[in-house]
Amino acid sequence: MNLRSKKAEVFYNVEPYPFTYDPSTPFIQQAADWVADVFYELLPEAGFEVRDEQIYMAFQLEKAFADKQTIFAEAGVGTGKTLAYLLYAVCYARYTRKPAVIACADESLIEQLVKPEGDIAKLARHLELIIDARLGKSPDQYLCLKKLDQARIQAKADVNWEEIAAGLPSFVNSSAPMQAFYAYGDRRNYSQLNDEQWNTINWDPFQDCFTCDRRHRCGQTLSRDHYRRAADIIICSHDYYLEHVWTYEGRKREGQLPLLPEHSSVVFDEGHLLESAAMKAFGYKMKHATFEELITRLLQNEIRESLAVLIDEAIVQSEVMFNAFGRYNLSIAGSDRREIVLTETLLDAVRRFRNLISAIEEELVFEGELYTLDHYQLRIVEEHMEMMQKALLLFEQPESTVISWVEDSPEGLILSVMPGTVKEMLKSQVFHLRMPVVFSSATMSVESSFRYLADSLGIERFLSFSVDSPYAYQAQMEVLAPLWSLADGFDGKMKEAVRLLGQTGGRALILFRTREELRQFKENVKAEPMLGGMSFYYEGDSEISHLISAFQQEEESVLCAVSLWEGLDVPGPSLANVIIWSLPFPPLDPVFNARRKAVADPFQEVDMPYMLLRLRQGIGRLIRSRDDSGIVVLMGEELRTHPEVKEKVISVLPKGARLKS
Ligand code: SF4
Repeated sequence: MNLRSKKAEVFYNVEPYPFTYDPSTPFIQQAADWVADVFYELLPEAGFEVRDEQIYMAFQLEKAFADKQTIFAEAGVGTGKTLAYLLYAVCYARYTRKPAVIACADESLIEQLVKPEGDIAKLARHLELIIDARLGKSPDQYLCLKKLDQARIQAKADVNWEEIAAGLPSFVNSSAPMQAFYAYGDRRNYSQLNDEQWNTINWDPFQDCFTCDRRHRCGQTLSRDHYRRAADIIICSHDYYLEHVWTYEGRKREGQLPLLPEHSSVVFDEGHLLESAAMKAFGYKMKHATFEELITRLLQNEIRESLAVLIDEAIVQSEVMFNAFGRYNLSIAGSDRREIVLTETLLDAVRRFRNLISAIEEELVFEGELYTLDHYQLRIVEEHMEMMQKALLLFEQPESTVISWVEDSPEGLILSVMPGTVKEMLKSQVFHLRMPVVFSSATMSVESSFRYLADSLGIERFLSFSVDSPYAYQAQMEVLAPLWSLADGFDGKMKEAVRLLGQTGGRALILFRTREELRQFKENVKAEPMLGGMSFYYEGDSEISHLISAFQQEEESVLCAVSLWEGLDVPGPSLANVIIWSLPFPPLDPVFNARRKAVADPFQEVDMPYMLLRLRQGIGRLIRSRDDSGIVVLMGEELRTHPEVKEKVISVLPKGARLKS
């Protein structure tokens, strides 16, 4: 979204601050005075509801911006925390002439922030501010022209790809110099495609954009140029921010621009999720097909025989190694990730492959001096092999320091390897910078302390505060734990869900723990005559913000999701019933298994805190304004079978809410 216009240019150039700046007074003090005016006068005059908790939060943020410190801002649902941090982020961006970055936990939260009735638009409208906020979406949210070409040739996934190709801007396929170009190919514009269809044509980590001959006309790269020029705010995902951190040095070394421009502050919205995003981002992915494709390109050049022989051997050994990964692994219920079983045969295959990579790297040094290879091609191959070396060296480290798994893809097995902890990298690349960093979430403290989160992220010095939600949960929310017959298994649970959906006439969000649960529910809905007239929207069937907006507009519908435990903000009558299908315990996959292995009591220290945090978030979807009311239905079997789990769940219910059977 770009709320900036011609008028904005004038405003920004003439008077960059929303107050009259006095150079003899510290800037943050003046910004704080303006923020006070906003909360005590401007917003109430515009008919806006301002809460005490929001004002308290704003004044806490003043300290973080004044001292350029990290702050954990834990504020309950409905506090209006976004408005509070936006005010400081925008002022500070204008003062430093560098945009602020707001990193959201996922793409659906980004959409919530920039939608026409979202917080940025609200602020701009009520304060008559023009805010230059631009989206820095992850590359996988954009169409890849190369993959679209492939899909057109192979006529994949039962979609009219020709129609999609015909809808691209005319400059994409023109060879004339571009007079005007703009970002295109955003996932939002292809809401008719389900996730599987979208994955056929979107960017993925195995695309080689650096050498791509279409990169100057590709929507993904054009979007990057666009958001770089944001004056006030760049909104991206945690994943993308961390990719920026992870690739920053490498890109600089290679003369490329970092993914994000220099920025003045960072806000991690839903900041409690940063550690898991970092573990994902600071890892490596490898597959045989990509290696073979890249290295085979070298054979098309005039190279020495010794190198050609090594390349042939490496291709064969890569296949042997991936076959070994395919043999030595275990499936995990509810997860696509498969656990690798370390055997001597597998480790031997890895070592042999790594030795061949080293030998090729040495040969390439000589080859580079002969200038027989295309410079760019050589660089890409070297870069890829360097990444593989790092990944495999990490893989060979003691099990306690590394997390790895394999998963299937249409082009064969993917090996993922990541470090067991991420704090050293985050400490040196983010938290050692003298920059205000705001962690914002309704759920960050564990037993009133932020130490657990700070330690996991490598944060030594920080400010923190907690404020409760302003809502009257006793009157607005009923929490039910229905007593269907456990002996009836899935059918009993389904029957109860049908009854409760009938009771609220749809208007429900059903949160599932796994995709498998969602799939099973979807299968069974068709056989329920009582649900015949109700519309159901399922995550994965179409682009997520499209699903959310359809659910919001069609009052008696039901939204079924796996990933909307956080961030979904649907105030009003469309949401009166949140059904928690299962308690959100983490899967038994390699990422969580690594965390479990690192602690003395995995259930108490990993599974239970994760579940409680996610459950609090899920419950928080129901009451989004003072006028909302409804039911939260907890259908987790453990509430009936594990008294301790029940007790802990009761302890995290919003203040005033009571659990009823
Ligand atoms: S630049 Fe990257 S995303 Fe764009 S078409 Fe080329 S490979 Fe695909």
